[in-house]
Parts: sequence; structure tokens; C-alpha cells
Amino acid sequence: MEILRNIKELKNKIGLNKNSIGLIPTMGALHKGHLSLLENARKENEILVASLFVNPKQFGPNEDFEEYPRDFKKDLSFFSDSKVDYLFLPDDSEIYPDGFSTYVNNNLEGRNFEGEFRNNHFDGVLTVVAKLINIINPKRIYFGEKDAQQLFLVKKMISDLNFNVLLRSVKTVRESNGLACSSRNSYLSSNETNDAANIYKSLCVVSDSWKNGEENFSVLKEKFITNLEHIKNIKIQYVETVDPDTFNTVERGRKAILIVAVLLGDIRLIDNIILD
Ligand code: AMP
Repeated sequence: MEILRNIKELKNKIGLNKNSIGLIPTMGALHKGHLSLLENARKENEILVASLFVNPKQFGPNEDFEEYPRDFKKDLSFFSDSKVDYLFLPDDSEIYPDGFSTYVNNNLEGRNFEGEFRNNHFDGVLTVVAKLINIINPKRIYFGEKDAQQLFLVKKMISDLNFNVLLRSVKTVRESNGLACSSRNSYLSSNETNDAANIYKSLCVVSDSWKNGEENFSVLKEKFITNLEHIKNIKIQYVETVDPDTFNTVERGRKAILIVAVLLGDIRLIDNIILD
């Protein structure tokens, strides 16, 4: 695996390559979810490029950019064990040089749900993803279903702006207790980890009820909330059912994604379950 820190170097390495490139953008602190993205990409591309960049522009002023978990040594061995060919490891000024001022915004679907609680978060995400696509020119790019709204918005950007890349989505990978793997899980104490496992349990209760014929999403959302009521430290920020094709809220039907964000103490966790 070759580590490349600057754009020119990276372009020189891969620019003339006619083989298919799979790109896996990450912010590091790798876990089984990232590994699944890498595995999927390894199966269908000749060249794997992963990026590790903790993107400052997707963190709000009161968010955890400084504390975001960083474990470079462990990440390097994960990337190299996953047979990544090139790891793009830029520093902030390589991506955002002095004078940088152009952003990709989605002022419709990007302002709800996560966008409501994390101001400008998706402007940062979409801008960096657009840059990575332009720098690397991959045939395929990989994102996890765990971040459902992010996945939707990247898909929308690719379509709205005619990017020439195929988007691949990868199923959410979970710990044995059901908790969705996330770099931020390392913030949780062992008690909090046990509490956090109830998020997925509650999503499953909702999904079972939906499979048994309950089509009124207000009832399902209420069920999710009731199932978490016994946990002292938990605060639900939102629980919504959205149409997977538009990310608009839907109130009933046979197809939706139930998306949730909860605070466990001051640790923010998101998850979702597909009702289809
Ligand atoms: P991050 O490093 O958190 O920015 O995540 C990089 C990519 O990994 C994104 O496409 C995420 O959606 C994906 N990802 C994160 N957690 C999981 C998970 N538990 N299962 C599958 N993909 C995930």
C-alpha cells in the first residue's frame, strides 16, 4: 500500500491507470463497518483507493472535531490488510488551501433531520466528496447505509451534478448486541454501550410490528419512543419515517426508512432500519 499526501502525487500515480478504481472515503478510526466497505470494493475493482481525512468542514463549532477518535497506526494496518492500493492522507490545507470558497450545498433534503441538528454538516460532506471524486476519478464510490441521509444526498449530488461515478451502498454492520458500529462508539462507557444496544432493539420492535401489518407510521414512531422510555440517560432528537426515494417524511405505507438520532448523555448516535 502506498500512502500519498498530496493531490498532484496521487493524480500522477493513478491518472494514467485505465483499471477500474474503487474509492472508499473515511474519517479513520476504522471498525467493522469500514472493513465491509473495503471488502465490497475489493471484489469489484482493480485498484482500491481509500481516503482518511477528518473533514473539519462537516463539524459544527460545538462538535467533536478535536476529540474525534484518531488511531492512525491501527488504521494503517486495517487499510493494508484490506489490500488498499493507495491511501490518500491529505492534511487540511491540501483539501482547503487558503482562499477556498466554493461549496456544494443541498438546501432541500440536506436541511432536515441531521441537517437540522448539525448546521451545514452536509455542505461539508458533499463538498469533500465532490472534491475526492474529482481528484481520484473513481469508477465506483462506497458509502454505508448506516448514514442513510448522507447516502441519499451523495446519490442526489451524483445525479444532480452529473458526476460520472457509480454509487455502491453497503449494509449497516453491527456489534453482536445490535449496536451499529461507529467510530464514536469509543466514547461510550460499558453501561452506555448496553443502553445504546436498545436503539437497535427498538428499531427491530418497530420493524416486526410493521411486518405484522401496522402501516401507520405515527404508531410505529410512538412504539420506538416507548421502547426507550426506561433508559434514564437517553434523549431522542428525532424519529422519522422517510421515503427512500425522496427523503420526504411519509405517514403510512409499505416502504420507508425509519431514521433516528438519540443522545446518550452527550454522545450522539444515529441509526435506521429499512421497512421494505
Ligand atoms: P466515517 O469514517 O464515519 O465517515 O464513515 C465512512 C463510511 O463508512 C461512510 O460511508 C459510512 O456510512 C460508513 N459506515 C460507518 N459506519 C458503518 C457501519 N456500521 N456499517 C456500514 N458502513 C458504515
